[in-house]
Amino acid sequence: MTDLETRWVGINRRIDEACGRGGRDPSTVQVMAVSKTQSPEAVAEVAALGVATFGENKVQEARQKIPLCPSRLHWHLIGHLQSNKARDAVRLFEMIHAVDSLRLLELLDRCAGEEGRVLPVCLEVNVSGERSKFGMPPRAVAEALRAAGSLFKVKVVGLMTIPPVAEDPGEARPFFRALRELRDQMQDLTGMALPELSMGMSQDFEVAIEEGATWIRVGTLLFGPRQRKESPYESIDS
Ligand SMILES: *Cc1c(COP(=O)(O)O)cnc(C)c1O
Repeated sequence: MTDLETRWVGINRRIDEACGRGGRDPSTVQVMAVSKTQSPEAVAEVAALGVATFGENKVQEARQKIPLCPSRLHWHLIGHLQSNKARDAVRLFEMIHAVDSLRLLELLDRCAGEEGRVLPVCLEVNVSGERSKFGMPPRAVAEALRAAGSLFKVKVVGLMTIPPVAEDPGEARPFFRALRELRDQMQDLTGMALPELSMGMSQDFEVAIEEGATWIRVGTLLFGPRQRKESPYESIDS
């Protein structure tokens, strides 16, 4: 086995074990390979393992990279999106995980309509309330969902969060749990189906699965170290 294959097998074993602990069916957990800063060659190698969905955090980088990658892949945007890049994002990405304002939701609805498609999105929620973070405060989610109810091209399918940086993955648990509980409340309140919980990265994906994650976003654990230093907390320019 190559190092990459060994890492992929290890990730899948850990997913299965976390599903066991959480009483989850592994088929309900999808893995997104976060390819930001990685080369098209690295993407092709990961795709050859059977990974189908890749995550990028910058529209500009994705615009250059995607045409150089295998064509059958699915691309998701996971970084903050600036409104002047919304149209490009709708063209490049199947799904957007970090919609953090009602204004952006409305703009994406318009762009998706013009592109003649329906766009699934997650609302990013700043569960921890850190000032450095993107995401809407939990109390703003109900209103965004109500407004989304009258948008027909953008479809909110769930919630996404990034917990505070921590040494111990267990420290992320309350934030993941809070996102799931918020999702449950919002489903009850609005009657909307919000099946997706986009949460968990290399360092804390097992805890996220135990708490209900349906999309885990794994970068360095799969690809190895990134080409340039960057954390999700710095990825402000999408
Ligand atoms: C970079 C990034 C990830 C992946 O982080 P790793 O620690 O490399 O797994 C996940 N989610 C978001 C939003 C990111 O920006």
